[in-house]
Amino acid sequence: MRALTRRTVPEHLPEITRYSDEPALASPHTLIAMVKGMPQIRAGLQAACHRAYEWGPDRMPGDWALAYLAFVISRIPDIEPWYQRVRADHSLWAACDFEQVPSYRLAHLRFTEMEGMADSFEEAAAHLIQKARAKDQRVGAWWHLDASEAETHAAPQHDCTAYDDCRTAKSGRRNPRMQRVGTATAKATRQLLATMPVEGQPGSISVEGLSVIPVGASVVDHERKGRRFTSGGHWWFTRDIDAGVRAYSRGSRVVKAWHGFLHMEVIDHFTHAPLASRLIPADQQEHAAYEALFERAQRHLDAVPYLVAGDAGYSVEHVFKSNSNLGVGSVFPFRRHAGSESAHRQPTAVYDEHGIPRCRRCGGESDFVRFAVTRGKGRLWFRCRLPQTQKCQGEQSIFCDEAPRHLLPVWRIEPAYAAMRVSHQSYEHKHRDLRIQYLLAPDCLALRPKRPGMAWQQLRASAAMLIEWLRVFQRGGWGDKPAVVGPARETGGGTMVKRLLQIRSDRRAAARAPTGSDPPIVMVPPAA
Ligand SMILES: [Zn+2]
Ligand SMILES: [Zn+2]
Repeated sequence: MRALTRRTVPEHLPEITRYSDEPALASPHTLIAMVKGMPQIRAGLQAACHRAYEWGPDRMPGDWALAYLAFVISRIPDIEPWYQRVRADHSLWAACDFEQVPSYRLAHLRFTEMEGMADSFEEAAAHLIQKARAKDQRVGAWWHLDASEAETHAAPQHDCTAYDDCRTAKSGRRNPRMQRVGTATAKATRQLLATMPVEGQPGSISVEGLSVIPVGASVVDHERKGRRFTSGGHWWFTRDIDAGVRAYSRGSRVVKAWHGFLHMEVIDHFTHAPLASRLIPADQQEHAAYEALFERAQRHLDAVPYLVAGDAGYSVEHVFKSNSNLGVGSVFPFRRHAGSESAHRQPTAVYDEHGIPRCRRCGGESDFVRFAVTRGKGRLWFRCRLPQTQKCQGEQSIFCDEAPRHLLPVWRIEPAYAAMRVSHQSYEHKHRDLRIQYLLAPDCLALRPKRPGMAWQQLRASAAMLIEWLRVFQRGGWGDKPAVVGPARETGGGTMVKRLLQIRSDRRAAARAPTGSDPPIVMVPPAA
């Protein structure tokens, strides 16, 4: 296998997560047997379960972590209907080492007690990730970021009292609920916010005739086990303490809300499996959670990637800076800055519109020499492409920090960059797969769990990450069975590199055109 560098064109294993190729993988018995065949993983989960139940009633034999994994692949969102379906399935309970079928009450208690052990499922997945990586360095070498709305079942309810300055409450009506906006609207809002300049107020934005309005004071109501917040001049109450709120008004009236979380994922380009899978309250911006998500994926992989690709939501200075200073290349689309009206990157005296540094002596184009992190800062070395004088000779260097969103460890004209940029879209479908397979990022009544809170949804997401890796690990041939997929393919970058190089060479030709004649027309490219 060739040695990998930051500029190596990424590769992927086609169809590795197409589990429908192996119907046996859909069976809980196959899954349970997989875990039982990996004593180290099983022991870690058992230890975590025992910690979670330390104060509970006497234990009977049975492995609740295995039962929970069976629940996660059942495509049933709540414990009760799942229990009703499997209660007579003695072979399932026996496979999980139960001597008798437990009661529903006990199953509910044990599963909900697991809310605190999401990290243990991720640690088990990390064990597999690192084992796979030890056998193939392409595992985890390139990352994609993706996020999707995840609803809570709770709905905010009008909560003004007769003591508040509220006509609705004074007239004795206290009950209206905020209507739910669909996750499609919530997603459109998030994507719209991501196109706005990062700095300053986004101003009023409106989606489908609804205006997004701010949510004010928010307090936990311990007595009623929920949270109160203000929006549009009213108090509202929700029984989900963790979920974020985005309120929408029509005219001056608050009419709807989107209430829930954002499910964020780091997806491995090579295997399509998640390296991190976390929820945040829906009113937080994705980029604000970037560093924490990155660190989690880094811990699971025990390494940093060469390249990270994401959408405009991550195209902000602190994300570029953090990546470059870790030696990680950023692959994000252009996002407008406050004060800049241009929809494209603009050239400066220091770098051109693709962020490629200019020769300091003649202002001309440069060739990449190398990138390295020196004293915690990403730094580029380059060389004048067409030396004009003696002064243009020799290497020049610049810290990426000087213009973090422009100066990148892997340049925008590199095939590796193009491969990640062009393939990114296909990784956004990953969330749809996870929703179908494990009911993650629920977007409707049929899929969302009735239990409120972030921990319950996080537990399912973390367990699903382990299941993904159990399956990928086997199919990739990193366990004791031969691979059923492969060989890996180089990821195509489409025509992006060719297009950018053409633009650059046209510009050079224009610069060389003899004075007096009309210079050739040079198209300004859309920002990569
Ligand atoms: Zn009110
Ligand atoms: Zn020069």
